[in-house]
Amino acid sequence: MPSFYQTKIEFLRGVGPSKATLLQQELQISTFDDLLQYFPFRYEDRTQFHTIAMLREDLPYVQLRGFIHPIKPVKTEKKRLTASLKDQTGEVKLMWFQKVQWISRQLQPNVLYNVVGKPVIYRGQMCLIHPELSTADPRQAPSQPILPVYHTTEKLKANYLDSKGIAKLQQRLLQRLPTSVAEAIPEHLRQRYKIMGKREAMFHIHFPKNHECLQKARFRLKFEELFYVQLRLLRLRHVRLEKHAGEVFGDLSLLKQFYHKDLPFGLTPAQKRVVREIYRDLQSGSQMNRLLQGDVGSGKTIVAWLSMLIVLSSGGQVTMMAPTEILAEQHYQVLQRFAASMDLSIAMLTGSTRPSERSGLLAALAQGSLRILIGTHALIGDMVTFKNLGLAIIDEQHRFGVAQRAKLFQKNQSYAPHVLIMTATPIPRTLAMTLYGDLDISVIDTMPEGRKPIRTLHCFDAQRLRVFRFIREQIALGCQVYIIYPLIEESEQLDYKNLLDGYESIRRAFPTTPISMIHSKMKPADKDYEMQRFVKGETKIMIGTTVIEVGIDVPNATVMVVENAEYFGLAQLHQLRGRVGRGSGQAYCILMTDYKLNEKSRARIDTMVSTNDGFRIADVDLRLRGPGDLVGVQQSGVLALKIADLSQDGQILQVAREAAKQVIHQDPALEQHEHASIKVQLDAMDSTSHSWSDTG
Ligand code: ADP
Ligand code: MG
Repeated sequence: MPSFYQTKIEFLRGVGPSKATLLQQELQISTFDDLLQYFPFRYEDRTQFHTIAMLREDLPYVQLRGFIHPIKPVKTEKKRLTASLKDQTGEVKLMWFQKVQWISRQLQPNVLYNVVGKPVIYRGQMCLIHPELSTADPRQAPSQPILPVYHTTEKLKANYLDSKGIAKLQQRLLQRLPTSVAEAIPEHLRQRYKIMGKREAMFHIHFPKNHECLQKARFRLKFEELFYVQLRLLRLRHVRLEKHAGEVFGDLSLLKQFYHKDLPFGLTPAQKRVVREIYRDLQSGSQMNRLLQGDVGSGKTIVAWLSMLIVLSSGGQVTMMAPTEILAEQHYQVLQRFAASMDLSIAMLTGSTRPSERSGLLAALAQGSLRILIGTHALIGDMVTFKNLGLAIIDEQHRFGVAQRAKLFQKNQSYAPHVLIMTATPIPRTLAMTLYGDLDISVIDTMPEGRKPIRTLHCFDAQRLRVFRFIREQIALGCQVYIIYPLIEESEQLDYKNLLDGYESIRRAFPTTPISMIHSKMKPADKDYEMQRFVKGETKIMIGTTVIEVGIDVPNATVMVVENAEYFGLAQLHQLRGRVGRGSGQAYCILMTDYKLNEKSRARIDTMVSTNDGFRIADVDLRLRGPGDLVGVQQSGVLALKIADLSQDGQILQVAREAAKQVIHQDPALEQHEHASIKVQLDAMDSTSHSWSDTG
């Protein structure tokens, strides 16, 4: 017999086979447990009333109390019913477009109603559309003061499963809830964090007695959810450290040699700290799996190089993978110079490496004479084998999937190589702890000295002539300029046309200035050629779409103009801005937009204008978009959260991670009696989910 929780939903009274199928199709609810875990997305407080005079369009659902007056003339057309609700402070229009006949029969004069709805402006008038009505008895307090509201769908509504219908099912199910519910959080943690019992929490999350109970139930369930996410991540990390021995690289001779002879600048304190963290990992005997976060221009490349030197000193090979050929090329050029001074062999492998060259290169790699390989994802091809790969570095990791990351581990026979992932997309702490919770994280949080902060300006299209004049002045001073167009149309053809139109208008405005253009339809070799012309300063303006967004380093470029900036996300704008301000001159970022901006576009532009701090920008981004839309989140699968919300529950997450850390620290194998329930729950989770298996 299935347990109570695994009982099929059709066996709940009032459900039956056809509704069960609908619930499964529309909401993926097929068992009692699925329904219990289908939590309300908001609540209506029936003890709180608004007055009609207080109504504003930006209010969420409100409850009003008044008379529907006058009942006549109620205008009943075939498809529409309007009436007006009056309280002491004013009058508001009520409108219905469905079940018109039925509702008009309910309406009575001289009866006090409670009306719940969302205020909207319709044809210039404040209204509630399809409000809920119930007769009010002011002498009696409502038996259920806080009502749950569940998401539902049109199909379900048509089958009596609107929010109220779902609430009824929940109530029925909760009545049958076994008197003892397994506690997924051990007693010592429940006491320490004053956590409400599981059974109680299940009741109060659906039918809270009051706000305090709701708060506690929410905390309990969010904590539990995040606690298990963190437990699993930390256990993965623990297993990795225990099981995956890492080759020990403790020799610092090459690093010291380079540091004292060839280092082109003094390291920032943050760079030094991160190199020390990496060194500690490399000589620990456990495999390193480290994420290095550092804003654009913070100097991650030199950190990568110094880490490589540690491995190279002891005879290991190293590789560095970049997301595009242009970037791989740029890394190759920088590192080639470094390597030459140390007499280390280095090569580059990309999709466009010629077959003749490729075979020699692969042979040298397998045989061990080639020590450093830079490239694109061509590196993880099956033909690529190393003799002893000690360190794999992945730059700008958000472009690589988890599976690709995993493939790198298989490049070595004996030890898994140490892995360093570098990203310039700052991720808010809460998200990093969840997305990369199995990794160790290093942060470069200070910029090299002498950089002037980039000045960001917001200009409307009408100010274009002034912007052009400014560009002309900058070019006269010897600087270079990027002008970026967004990808706004669905079709590549149209985007291409936008870009070409832009190119034409820039050419007309700057007839004597040499201009480059890069777009996604060009062959890599042509892109490269144009890019190189710009890098060498032969062209002064670079026009492109976001293909130039990552990593490119042209210190002489000081102006970044973004056309239709309202079409870009915050992370992207920040990346683009990071293309300038790499030299010592004052750099500018000019965000061009239309006059009309919606609220979110305005918030994005204002954020860009007010700060250069990538982490602050990432926080705003998380708030504006929610975690689901952030880069890399979707593919990870870790964020299929039922109740916790990473953009809001950062503090709970912190507490849950601490708790999980202590448990793993104290009892890594979860063998102690008090952790038995955790182990059961985790094993059950591992056996039902697949998205986690390749995380490490
Ligand atoms: P990113 O973190 O975006 O990859 P890079 O490694 O490309 O940044 O570094 C950006 C620029 O800053 C490069 O031109 C690099 O030479 C320079 N740079 C890096 N570290 C320092 C430092 N400590 N002092 C001065 N310049 C530095
Ligand atoms: Mg970089």
